[in-house]
Amino acid sequence: MNEYDSELVKSILIDAGYEFTPDELAADIVMLNTCSVRENAHRKVYGNIHEIRHRRQGKAVLIGILGCMATGLRKELLEDKKLALDFVVGPDSYKRLPHILRALEQEHQQGYDVTLSEFETYADIYPTRTDGVNAWVAVMRGCNNFCSFCIVPFTRGRERSRSVENIIAEVERLAGEGFKQVTLLGQNVNSYHHEGKNFARLLEAVARVDGIKRIRFTSPHPKDFPDDLIRVMAEDPKICKQIHLPLQAGNDRVLELMGRGYTGKEFIALVCKIRQSCPSITLSTDVIVGFPTETDAEFEDTVRVMREVEFDSAFMFKYSVRPNTKAARDLKDDVPEDKKTGRIVRLNVMQTDISLKKNQLLVGQVQAIMMEQAGKVKSGAAYGRNDANKIVTLSNGEFTPGQIVHARIVRATPHQLKGELHP
Ligand code: SF4
Repeated sequence: MNEYDSELVKSILIDAGYEFTPDELAADIVMLNTCSVRENAHRKVYGNIHEIRHRRQGKAVLIGILGCMATGLRKELLEDKKLALDFVVGPDSYKRLPHILRALEQEHQQGYDVTLSEFETYADIYPTRTDGVNAWVAVMRGCNNFCSFCIVPFTRGRERSRSVENIIAEVERLAGEGFKQVTLLGQNVNSYHHEGKNFARLLEAVARVDGIKRIRFTSPHPKDFPDDLIRVMAEDPKICKQIHLPLQAGNDRVLELMGRGYTGKEFIALVCKIRQSCPSITLSTDVIVGFPTETDAEFEDTVRVMREVEFDSAFMFKYSVRPNTKAARDLKDDVPEDKKTGRIVRLNVMQTDISLKKNQLLVGQVQAIMMEQAGKVKSGAAYGRNDANKIVTLSNGEFTPGQIVHARIVRATPHQLKGELHP
C-alpha cells in the first residue's frame, strides 16, 4: 500500500510542478513514506533520517515523513530536535502536500497535516508508476476491524471503497500502457463494497479488462471470506490461484485476545473449503509469536495449525507493542524476548522445510511464467513468476517483461524455482 501511496504522492507533486530525482544527494526535498506495523520499521526510519543528514553534510534539504508514522507520532516527530523534521503528512492528506511544501519554502516553518478522512480514496489521482509488469491498484483504504495488536485503524482510518467504474477505468488505462498484471490492494479486501457491489463482483469486472493477463489481490481477512469469492477465483483463469491468508495465531484464546473473529478450527475449515474449490491454490500467511500471555502450550497450537495447513510461505514476526492499540492498553508484553526468538526460529525451521517440500512437488511440471525485468534475481539472468507468485529463474532465452512463457520446473529451493523453457 505504501508503494502505491508513493506513486500517488508523485502524481500530486508532479502536477504541482515538482520534479523527482532518484539521487537523494541532489534532492531539495526528501520524503520517507513510513509504516507503523512494527516497531522495527520506526527504528529504520530514524536511522535513515540521520544517515541522510550525515550524507548531505550540512547542505540544505527539507526532510519530511509521510504515511502511518506521521499519523501515529506527529507530535513526537515534530518535537524531536535531533530529527529536525520539516514536515509530517499522514496517508489521507497527500493532496495538501503542495500547499504544505510551498508554505514551508516561504515561511520556513514546520508543516503538518495528519487528518484522517472518511471519504478520501484518491479516486481522482492516477499514480505515477515506474514501468513494469505489475501495477498496484488500491480498491479500498482504511480498516474497521481493530485487531487488538494492530495500529492500522488508528493510522489509516475507517474503511472506504472506490467505485467499480473508477477502478475499471484505471485498470483499462493500465492495460493500454502495457501493464499485464494488476494487484488489487486493501487492508481487508473482503470489506470492499460500493453501491451494492462486493469484492467478488469487482474481481469479475477487472477480469473482463482486455490486456490484463493476471489479477492478484491482498489481503483478505479469514473471518469473512465469502463462498462467492472462492467461486469467482476458481472459475476465472485470469485470477491467480494464490491467497495471502493471515493466520496470526493457532490458539483460540490468543485469537480471541487478538480480536480476529475466528478459531483455529474455523481457519482450517476455510482452508479446506478453498482447496476443495481450487486444488492448485497457493497459500501464504502472517504469524505473530509471543502475543501477550501466550503460553508455550498455546504456541504449540500455532505450530499445529501451520503443520496442518502447510502454507507455501509465511511471514513470521515477534509481537511488538503498538501504541494506542487494545493490546497495548490492556495487556502486558510479558513473553520474554528470548522466548519470542525461540518461537520464531522454530517456526522458521519448520516453514522452510514445508516450503521446500511444496516447491519440490512442482519439479517436472510445466508452468506458465510471466517474465519480469531481467537481472533482478542474482541466481538467474532472467526470471518471472508462476501463477502462485513464486519466482522462477530461467537461464536460456530472450524475454520481454510481461511475456508469458512455458517452462518445466527442474529444481526447487524453499524460496525459488528453476525452470527450463518448454517448447
Ligand atoms: S484486519 Fe486487523 S490486522 Fe489487518 S489492518 Fe485491519 S486491524 Fe490491522
